[in-house]
Amino acid sequence: MIHTLNSRVNPAAEEQTDLGIQLAFGATSRPVTDYREHVRKLIGERISPLIPASERERRFPREAVAALGSAGVFHERWSGGIHGDLGRAVVLAEEMGRAGLGGIGIGVGLHLEAATSLLRGFGSTAYAEEVLGQALAGDSVCCVATSEQHVGSDLSAVETSLTEEGDHWRVRGEKWFVSPGAAADFALVLCRGGQGPAIVVVPRAGLTPVQRWATTGMRSLETVRLRVDARVPDDAVLVRPGSGLAAAGQGLMYERLALAAQVLGALDLASVLAITHLKRRKQFGSPLYRHQALRLRMADLHSRILVARRGLYATVAEVSAGGGASASDAAALKVTVARLGERVTSECAHIFGGRGYVEDQTPLERLWRDLKVGRLGGGSDEMMWELVAAGFRPDHELYEAWVAT
Ligand SMILES: Cc1cc2nc3c(=O)[nH]c(=O)nc-3n(C[C@H](O)[C@H](O)[C@H](O)COP(=O)(O)OP(=O)(O)OC[C@H]3O[C@@H](n4cnc5c(N)ncnc54)[C@H](O)[C@@H]3O)c2cc1C
Repeated sequence: MIHTLNSRVNPAAEEQTDLGIQLAFGATSRPVTDYREHVRKLIGERISPLIPASERERRFPREAVAALGSAGVFHERWSGGIHGDLGRAVVLAEEMGRAGLGGIGIGVGLHLEAATSLLRGFGSTAYAEEVLGQALAGDSVCCVATSEQHVGSDLSAVETSLTEEGDHWRVRGEKWFVSPGAAADFALVLCRGGQGPAIVVVPRAGLTPVQRWATTGMRSLETVRLRVDARVPDDAVLVRPGSGLAAAGQGLMYERLALAAQVLGALDLASVLAITHLKRRKQFGSPLYRHQALRLRMADLHSRILVARRGLYATVAEVSAGGGASASDAAALKVTVARLGERVTSECAHIFGGRGYVEDQTPLERLWRDLKVGRLGGGSDEMMWELVAAGFRPDHELYEAWVAT
């Protein structure tokens, strides 16, 4: 049995979220709390019931994208300025995390944040606008295909080729990990043209899933190896050769923020279950909560979640306001939250003792498996730290004032 939880899992955290987001973004056409209620209801009624079969069959349910898109959730997220409404991106991802959607939530995030941001940011042609319209309406599923057998962290080495053939372009290669690759109607493919990396929108007819990976977690994300062989019109070249890496980096920023929000939502679920178990389960004649070692460990983890959430709001608010937040801030947030996610879910499962390791007893073993990949998705820990380190600036004046030279 796979557990789902559709009700409010952590009202205190939720009020904090809505207050934080409302303060950060000001009044919007629809209050954030209404959006949250709307999203939560949709998830509870239309998406959570899809989890058991999707996990069992390792299949991404297209219905999840259709349900959210047709209800206007994606349009609302991408209404407004250059970043759309990032507050809504956070709310949607948090709610997907709190409902324990795992792979389904990440798949929706890849569609909505990674792919849609690229279409919206770079799609000036009628073709791209048509694909964007379908994506926002939930009529089609989009994914982003960058990795290859020999290309992971170093995307500049991309080998999938883009060549001109008369008045069309030919895209050919094999993408190694693509999510949700088999369900996708369109893949935004990073490839190599004459002047360097480009991004091309390839429709389903040019995509052949050749292997479904037996991943440890995120089984409903349906990550596949994808063969790409397509002739596409010039309009489908979303980002011209030479500019592909910089554009991919922009899409990744949204993906990283949404991933952090979904992880923090999942940690609300995990920590509330563990805290409740501490109060209910008795050993040595008293609730586990009375055992200081467990109580303090949970307090430490809870504090880290609280601080990480505040960091997420502050970063998102700054990005929205066009302020100082940068790609390196999003990277810092993502790596810190992803690592916290792995640790918290492991500790929460531990608090359940043997039950925490059994599939049909709690959702914790699945959350633990799912969140493990957060340290790779959207770029690995080390790549995030490289982005952070690239922003290091020495202060020689300060150094000389304080350090004996
Ligand atoms: C479930 C799942 C879903 C995925 N979905 C998608 C998707 O939808 N689209 C897509 O394009 N990709 C996807 N990926 C691929 C993912 O983005 C990559 O796995 C990730 O970027 C790491 O690349 P790699 O696996 O090739 O590892 P490598 O790049 O080979 O790295 C191996 C290890 O070495 C470390 N490393 C590499 N270079 C350095 C360095 N210079 N300094 C220090 N450490 C370094 C890495 O951090 C990592 O720990 C998915 C992967 C998984 C597992």
